[in-house]
Amino acid sequence: MAETAARKQDARAQGRRVDRIDTAPRFTETDAIRLNNLFRGSDTQDMLRGVLRDRLAGDLAVVSSFGAESAVLLHLIAQIDPATPVLFLETHKHFPETVAYRDELVAHLGLTGLQIVEPDAEVLAKKDDNGLRWSWDPDGCCEIRKVQPLAKALLHFDASITGRKGFQSATRAGLPRFEIDHSDAQGRLKINPLASWTKDDLEGWMDRHGLPRHPLVALGYPSIGCAPCTSKVAPGEDPRSGRWKGWDKTECGIHVPGSTDSSSGIDDVPPGYDPIF
Ligand code: SF4
Repeated sequence: MAETAARKQDARAQGRRVDRIDTAPRFTETDAIRLNNLFRGSDTQDMLRGVLRDRLAGDLAVVSSFGAESAVLLHLIAQIDPATPVLFLETHKHFPETVAYRDELVAHLGLTGLQIVEPDAEVLAKKDDNGLRWSWDPDGCCEIRKVQPLAKALLHFDASITGRKGFQSATRAGLPRFEIDHSDAQGRLKINPLASWTKDDLEGWMDRHGLPRHPLVALGYPSIGCAPCTSKVAPGEDPRSGRWKGWDKTECGIHVPGSTDSSSGIDDVPPGYDPIF
């Protein structure tokens, strides 16, 4: 009890301090460490109440792919503040099932802050006029359909909440709850409430709360991204091994350090290349 009160007091103090910071960078590595320490040992709902109600991270948005496990985080958030902005990157390459699932889940959870983030039409016309860039330059395709649009959308926020989990892949092992988003120099916080959740935790939560499932999970897709870059995964395989199969690529770029004006460096289809799709 005393510990909870102390934590709340600490949280309010942190909130006041954060409110005074209105110039970039918004947060520092020290802030991220402090927040990790502040919530060490507290459960996910307590932590989310701290950032959503007590505004420890300022203005924030959830970034959701409405994929295989997205329902858990969105459910947790809807219980605290259903008006929280939820950003969905409309790459125009999603499975139709994902778009239908997005709308079903938003209605089921009563979320009112869905924002569809579109790629820049001029950039698409210039760099992916036939829509096949994914087949010969997936890094460049993710850059123009995901990384750049998200960077622009997040300029309005101090922090983003992701659904990443440490168990998902070797590249996500040891994921902290709070970290600095190094995709640009804004010093935004990136918050990973489910960092320590296991697959069983997620399954149990979805069962207990009767959350709708993405229809493709039952068909062998444990991790779901854009349709051209998502394959089925055999039982026991790394859940993310079905993403960008055949490419040396494990992340779309929104979760790796970089610069918003970076690009794959490739602007033309390689000579003699005949995309297979
Ligand atoms: S996941 Fe594939 S289709 Fe989607 S933006 Fe990245 S490369 Fe393009």
